[in-house]
Amino acid sequence: MIASVDPHLLEILVCPLCKGQLLLRRAPQALVCPFDRLAFPVRDGIPVMLPEEADAVTAEEVEALRARQSPQPEPSPLRFMGDGGVS
Ligand SMILES: [Zn+2]
Repeated sequence: MIASVDPHLLEILVCPLCKGQLLLRRAPQALVCPFDRLAFPVRDGIPVMLPEEADAVTAEEVEALRARQSPQPEPSPLRFMGDGGVS
């Protein structure tokens, strides 16, 4: 059985270095700080928030995690149809 991180835990956990919000990585499970580009390991469902235990992650990996976890709504091109008050 594989323990996973409690989503509520993720909401209250922050990076110990920059106090920024963390992204959850799977396989291997870790909490990633996008600012410091560090992956804090999760052992038996318990995040290890120690900088000396963290692994470096690439900018590409951070971007991939960001894209998956915080989907930004696509700006609609139809917005440009308004008059805009320009005369
Ligand atoms: Zn950080």
